[in-house]
Amino acid sequence: MSFLLSAVCWAGIAAGNSFQQLANFTSQQLTEHLFVVKSNNSNTNVGVYIGEAYTVLIDPVVGKSNNEKLVNAIKKITTKPIKYVLNTHSHRDHTGANSFYMELGATIISNKNGIFHENNTRITTDKKHSLELGTDTIDLYPFISHTADDVLIHFRNSNTIFMGDTYMHKTYPHAYVGGSKGQFSIINKALLLANESTNIVTAHGRLTAQKSELSSFKQKATLWYSKIAELSAQGLSVDAILNNEELKEISKKFRPFSVGFFNQQVKKTIKAEQAMSK
Ligand SMILES: [Zn+2]
Repeated sequence: MSFLLSAVCWAGIAAGNSFQQLANFTSQQLTEHLFVVKSNNSNTNVGVYIGEAYTVLIDPVVGKSNNEKLVNAIKKITTKPIKYVLNTHSHRDHTGANSFYMELGATIISNKNGIFHENNTRITTDKKHSLELGTDTIDLYPFISHTADDVLIHFRNSNTIFMGDTYMHKTYPHAYVGGSKGQFSIINKALLLANESTNIVTAHGRLTAQKSELSSFKQKATLWYSKIAELSAQGLSVDAILNNEELKEISKKFRPFSVGFFNQQVKKTIKAEQAMSK
């Protein structure tokens, strides 16, 4: 549905306003209610859901002036209060604005090692936590992949999945804590929930991706992890693995080769795989 049409249908958003028209932001309107925005001086993609009763943010940007700019931009679109801030994981570029929004009255929902918390208070929930918005339902699933506290966030009606840093465009797997097991468990969940029309939002880089891109990333990640496992099983040293030509070739399927970044990411992958196998 086009933005103007949706604004006519729903008076909650003032006609003619969208993030596109505001300075300081790159944005994409995914559905009637859901936007992804990025401040021009930050690389974190932020989800903004403007519902009929309230607004929900995902990983709002860090830094006082960024926070104020985002709040002012939202105020130009809606008068609905920011009720929830959802964190895809605990790294500071995703959670650094939490206290700012708590002061505005928002409830922070995050995962701490598989258990969901609201404003740091444990909430009784099973493996999945759901928020009913009236216009949509958000399901939050905990994972251990990039960190010990990743969350896959699924907007059922908006057909959108936020994956945080567990899937990044054009780079190697970043499953620093969960290793290959954690990486594939969250990818498989996203692929199960997604169809060809689903918007998949990664936390950095381009605002959205499609299911086919995630499937292709899974194939490349399978080659990456299998080769590292094969070389490790041969008893090769880390240096020997770093010099393996086949692994270098696989890495080029993700991004152009750069020795420093390749070495760093292979070492992190080996470390995570060893930790997970203990
Ligand atoms: Zn990040």
